[in-house]
Formats: sequence, C-alpha cells, structure tokens
Amino acid sequence: MPMFVNTSPPGQCIFCRLVAGEIPSARVFEDELTIAFMDIGQVNPGHVLVATRRHAATLFDITADEAAAVARTVKRVAHAVRDTFDPPGLTLLQANGREGDQTVFHFHMHVVPRHGDDGIALSWPRKDPPADVLQGYAAQLRDTLARS
Ligand SMILES: [Zn+2]
Repeated sequence: MPMFVNTSPPGQCIFCRLVAGEIPSARVFEDELTIAFMDIGQVNPGHVLVATRRHAATLFDITADEAAAVARTVKRVAHAVRDTFDPPGLTLLQANGREGDQTVFHFHMHVVPRHGDDGIALSWPRKDPPADVLQGYAAQLRDTLARS
C-alpha cells in the first residue's frame, strides 16, 4: 500500500492546486467534472489518477453526477492505457479514509496497468462467514438501501 500521505493544510489541497494549474501536472484528459493526470509515483508506466474537478474528500462527498463522470473518464482512460501500453492486466483502486489507505484527501481513482511481476501485492484476507451470517449482512444492507 502507498506510503505517501499528503499533509497539506486545509485549503491547500494539492489536487485542488493541480486542477487550478498552480502546480505542474502531466494531464491526459479533462472534462467539466473530472481531470485525469499521471500519478507522479508511476507504479507502472501509464498509471493515471482520475479525480473530481471539485474538491470532495471521499466517495461519500461526491455527487451522483460526479461519480458517473469519474466512471466514464476512468473507462475512457483505461482503454487508452490498454491501447498505449498494452499491459496484460489493469487494476482500479479507490480509497476512502486513512483506514481505507487514502493518502490524498481529494476524491480520486487510480488506473493502474498491471504486469505479472510488478511487485504490487493486494492483501485479501477472506473470512468466509457462514451462509446465515452472510444473509444477515445482506438483510441489513437491504434495509438501509430501502430507507435511502
Ligand atoms: Zn482538493
């Protein structure tokens, strides 16, 4: 997981400054609601970040229209990454909160071209709960969704 954590003070968000052109970036695409630019870390060549143009810290702070716009830009950029760098795989990563491994608190999604020996290790500790526990989780979520 990324070790870089942005500690910019409030109002000095680095992605807001990037959107405003106050700091340099290698932009690849932008539209009314989103901007796509090269991640300076470049885990693999073609590693792009797609961010909302408006400042919003997490998934829970963006609008449905911004979420849809990010998804469209991610899809478009992913096709360009595939067509340009020809990676055998591609991973999308979007993190929320420190415990979710978010490092820059301005909503963004990573488009990461993947190779078999690229050193990225995603830990996925399965818990495999019993079926009744799984059904209970689903019932809780259905109730929450029905109220929203
Ligand atoms: Zn921002």
